[in-house]
Amino acid sequence: LENEVNMDDEYKKYFSFAQEKLDELIEIKGIFHDKNYNNNELFLKNLDLIKSRMHTDEKITQRISTLTKKDSIRNPSFSEREKIQQKALKLPLLPTTTIGSFPQTLEIKSLRNRYKKGKISTEAYDKCIKEKIAECIKIQEEIGLDVLVHGEFERNDMVEYFGENLSGFLFTQNAWVQSYGTRCVKPPIIWGDIKRVKPITVKYSTYAQGLTDKPVKGMLTGPVTILNWSFPREDVSNREMALQIALAIRDEVLELEDNGINIIQIDEAALKEKLPIRREDWHSDYLDWAIFAFRLVHATVKPTTQIHTHMCYSEFEEIVKDIEAMDADVISFEASRSNLSIVEALKKVHFKTAVGPGVYDIHSPRVPSVKEISNTINTMLEKIKIKKLWINPDCGLKTRGETETVLSLKNMIQATKSIRKELK
Ligand code: GLN
Ligand code: ZN
Repeated sequence: LENEVNMDDEYKKYFSFAQEKLDELIEIKGIFHDKNYNNNELFLKNLDLIKSRMHTDEKITQRISTLTKKDSIRNPSFSEREKIQQKALKLPLLPTTTIGSFPQTLEIKSLRNRYKKGKISTEAYDKCIKEKIAECIKIQEEIGLDVLVHGEFERNDMVEYFGENLSGFLFTQNAWVQSYGTRCVKPPIIWGDIKRVKPITVKYSTYAQGLTDKPVKGMLTGPVTILNWSFPREDVSNREMALQIALAIRDEVLELEDNGINIIQIDEAALKEKLPIRREDWHSDYLDWAIFAFRLVHATVKPTTQIHTHMCYSEFEEIVKDIEAMDADVISFEASRSNLSIVEALKKVHFKTAVGPGVYDIHSPRVPSVKEISNTINTMLEKIKIKKLWINPDCGLKTRGETETVLSLKNMIQATKSIRKELK
């Protein structure tokens, strides 16, 4: 904790990092050997500290306690919406898109870094981000994608960014967690009740949409993933935290919709991560409230608004029914590394949601050939109805280089176009 110079002492006293934990071990040993531990000074001090931490915002607690199943039901039903959206969005067969982020170059990382350190003004920073967005939209139009994204250049990480823009979170300078290979993230700490105090993504999403006639997907992180990739509170339940976040993200969804964003993706990359070890606890203890939280986020949007979600980092076969119960309109997921086994599972349950199983692996800099991608799409078409299939890479592109990204996406579009042609 000594190195956390930005954290207020007011908060610091509640935390224990590596060194403090060593001290605590010694204290616990002392308390353990104290026959009269109930009166042990250190023990009592710790109890007081824990008690002083308990606090909740009455208004939010109230709002959550009055939620019912009805609040999570989106009308009209999926099959009705499917027709309505087809008419409204007029997308081609096998619509093409990406998962959200575009390459985070050194230039963009250094820009964010300089802004964070106060070395450049908000205006200058904003101007640079907008330039990157404009460039990204232009590239996607040139490539020929159908549904565009703004590129997520303003985001360090999909969870930390939302944490920074919602109230109720604290941040560390050094509490890094390894996420994938050599990649690390710095999860925010959920400290208090979570509220949306201002629009988060509306400015850049609407800016991007203003630059093109193609639809630009709004890009949000879902409540379960924000919870699962944060350090949680210990004084309220996971369910309570997830629902607080859901209500906050729901307000963001509605404001995006109000501002002309007709397709909104709510990422749930980490949906499976808090799944209990025992299968019998999956629903009672987790999936029921996790799915409810996700549904709350989009239940009140217009039928014409298309809700996407995205998932990765796990095998989904066992929970396809629950994924369907999220009631999204489209779901994209990582599939290329698991031999497309998921596609078979989707067929088995007659999965209703439209799907975009990734057609190439973004974890490698290798550029997939047109032939390779066409083969993958054709294999998918053996199991998935053509009207339900979307074409996209298998995750966000932020860890990739710019050149390989453009080449890979161009091949993806060429493969899609030639398959569309064959179908005619
Ligand atoms: N929208 C996010 C991105 O493209 C999703 C990241 C993820 O699934 N981990 O970066
Ligand atoms: Zn992903």
